[in-house]
Amino acid sequence: MSKSDREHYQVIIIGSGPAGFTAALYAARANLTPLILEGNQPGGQLTITTDVENYPGFPEGILGPELMERMREQVKRFGTQVKFEAATAVDLSQRPFRVTTDDGAEYTAGSLIIATGATAKLLGLPAEEHLMGYGVSACATCDGFFFKDKEIVIVGGGDSAMEEATFLTKYATKVTVIHRRGELRASKIMQDRALANDKIEFLWHHEVTDVLGSREDGVHAVRVRDTRNGEERDFPTQGLFLAIGHKPNTELFENTLERDDVGYLKVDEPSTRTNVEGVFACGDAMDPIYRQAVTAAGSGCRAAIDAERWLEAQD
Ligand code: NAP
Repeated sequence: MSKSDREHYQVIIIGSGPAGFTAALYAARANLTPLILEGNQPGGQLTITTDVENYPGFPEGILGPELMERMREQVKRFGTQVKFEAATAVDLSQRPFRVTTDDGAEYTAGSLIIATGATAKLLGLPAEEHLMGYGVSACATCDGFFFKDKEIVIVGGGDSAMEEATFLTKYATKVTVIHRRGELRASKIMQDRALANDKIEFLWHHEVTDVLGSREDGVHAVRVRDTRNGEERDFPTQGLFLAIGHKPNTELFENTLERDDVGYLKVDEPSTRTNVEGVFACGDAMDPIYRQAVTAAGSGCRAAIDAERWLEAQD
C-alpha cells in the first residue's frame, strides 16, 4: 500500500505516554484494532526520567524508558498498530476524521483520542538537558525522593515552585528557591506556606545560567546571575528542580478544539469528551492539576471506554 492510500481505523490515538498506551490497551481489548501515532518522543515524558518508584506494581521501581517499552509491548500483544509517526494536521470538520503525519501518510478515523501530553518548560541550557535525570528534574513528585538529606535548588516563583519547594522539604535538608524577580507570582496562601517553612530559603533577583556536574557524579553547583547587575557566581547544590510552568502539546488543535488560557484541552468532566463529538482527550494534554503517569493512564482508560461507547452508539 502506498503512503497516499488512506488506512481507516475505528480509533486513532495520538500520543504514546501512559495515557495513549492505556487508551490503546483498552481500545485493542475492545476489538477496535486502534492505531497509535507515537509522536516525536515515543513514550513521552517518562522516557526522560530515570527511576519511577510511584507507578503501582513495581515495588523495586522501574526505569521510565523500560516502563514505556513494556506498555508498548502490551498494546502490541492485543493488536494495536504502533507507528513511529507524528500527527502534523488533523481535520475534524467531517467524519471520518483525517490525520496527516510527518511521514506523508494520511489516515481516517471513526474516533480520535488525543493523548499528546505536556512538556515541562526548561531554561534552555545545554547542561540542563544533559543532566536531566542525573541531578536535574522538572518533576518534584517523581524525583524528590532521590534527594533525601541533600541541599537542592528550585527555579520559579509561581504556585508550582512554592508547592514543589514545600513538598521537597520532606526529603531535602534545605531547598533554595531561585527567582528572577524580588516578588513571587504565586498565590498568597502558597507564598505564606513556603515563606514560613524553615527549610526553604530564597535567592531573589537571580537566574540560573549553567548547571555544573556530570552524569557520573550528579550536580554540585549551579551558576547564577544577579538580574540587577549581571554578576555571576557559583551556588553549591546537589540538585536542580525546574518549576517554571508546563506547556500542553495541543497547538495542533488550536483552531478546532476548545482549550483553556494555557492551552489545556477542555473536556466534559467526568467524561473525556471534547467539544467535537467523537474526539476524546486524556492525560497531561487535558490535566493541569495532577500530571502523574498513573492519573494519565487512568484517563487514557476512560477515553478508550468513552470512544468505544460512542462508536457503539453510532452503529
Ligand atoms: P506560572 O504561574 O506560569 O509561574 C512560572 C514561574 O516561573 C514564574 O514565577 C516565572 O517568573 C518563572 N519563570 C518562567 N520562565 C522562567 C525562566 N525562563 N527563567 C526563570 N524563571 C522563569 O506556572 P506554575 O507555577 O506552573 O503555575 C501554572 C498554573 O497552575 C497557575 O495558574 C497556578 O496557579 C496553577 N497551580 C496551582 C496550584 C495550586 O493551587 N495548588 C499548584 C500549582 C500550579 P515571573 O514571575 O518573573 O514571570
